[in-house]
Amino acid sequence: MPTYVYRAIDSDRSCDHCELGFEIIQRMTEPTLTTCPHCKNPISRILFAPTVVIKGSPLTETDRKIRDYEKEGKWSHAAELADKEAEKTKREDLKTRALEDYKKAGYNFDKYNTDT
Ligand SMILES: [Zn+2]
Repeated sequence: MPTYVYRAIDSDRSCDHCELGFEIIQRMTEPTLTTCPHCKNPISRILFAPTVVIKGSPLTETDRKIRDYEKEGKWSHAAELADKEAEKTKREDLKTRALEDYKKAGYNFDKYNTDT
């Protein structure tokens, strides 16, 4: 059975359980969770593996490094690294991750979007 990862949508409304995300094993047929089983606040499923993994690209050294940065809360470092790696490997999952990390680092995308 696949393992799914869920995380609080709004970190201001989360408990220890969902703030950093949690893994849960579900059947494919089970509905997607929308609220944390502990605090009942909204959560979203993080799309890892089966759907986004590109064949032949296992967890790389860079992935691990990004994860380390994220663990330490170095969001801008993680974002830059993910961004660079996404450019290089054309991996959509990393691009998404870079965006998320940039947001956590406090970047304001609305502002940047007007420049392009
Ligand atoms: Zn919770």
